[in-house]
Amino acid sequence: MTTATTRFAIQPVAAATLPIAQSTLLFPVHRVYCVGRNYADHAIEMGGDPNREPPFFFQKNPDNLFAGDSFPYPSASNDVHHEIEMVVALKGGGVDIPVADALDCVWGYAVGLDMTRRDLQAMAKELARPWEVAKAFEQSAPCSPLVAAEKIGHPSRGAIRLDVNGERRQAGDLDQMIWKVPEMISYLSGLFRLAPGDVIMTGTPAGVGPVSRGDVLHGRVDGVGGLDVMVV
Ligand code: MN
Repeated sequence: MTTATTRFAIQPVAAATLPIAQSTLLFPVHRVYCVGRNYADHAIEMGGDPNREPPFFFQKNPDNLFAGDSFPYPSASNDVHHEIEMVVALKGGGVDIPVADALDCVWGYAVGLDMTRRDLQAMAKELARPWEVAKAFEQSAPCSPLVAAEKIGHPSRGAIRLDVNGERRQAGDLDQMIWKVPEMISYLSGLFRLAPGDVIMTGTPAGVGPVSRGDVLHGRVDGVGGLDVMVV
């Protein structure tokens, strides 16, 4: 722990945060967990099995999340894809959390993009290498301001969609998630010690595809909010 008198050998980088809608408070981001292939139609488009196999997770870096309105096209890729997702922010944690208690850990929700260097991901899959270069690059997760569960409840159904330059590219419903939010929290807590500030990206419906500089992305999750991002 750090205290007012803690002295660091070098200047520490500022903690990652996300804004909160209609509030001056910031949400401190601890870790970012992302679930893969959590909508059956997207699992099929990625060549997977839409059946209920155990979920799998990867991580982004906490400071990959940001609330800006422009997404800088990253280096080292010619095939960067959009993945619209509902984002869950935790206020509690622990290990081995029962499904029935999992929603007590949730502070709130947001709309996010799991931007992906698809070409590097494909290479990683082929070579059985990890996914960080595909998933955990700078500003790889544009995100709307968080909204508190106190205000909106815990959305388990509702449209999730993404338009690119006004054209619908991704559309689904939260009720199509293979693993529901309480199940994801419970499962993750069997693998990691979840903590306040942890964020979970809950997977994307079908329709992922490439973006280009100048594209305008508009994402929306009914009951949660919207996200507008320009690729620059
Ligand atoms: Mn994703």
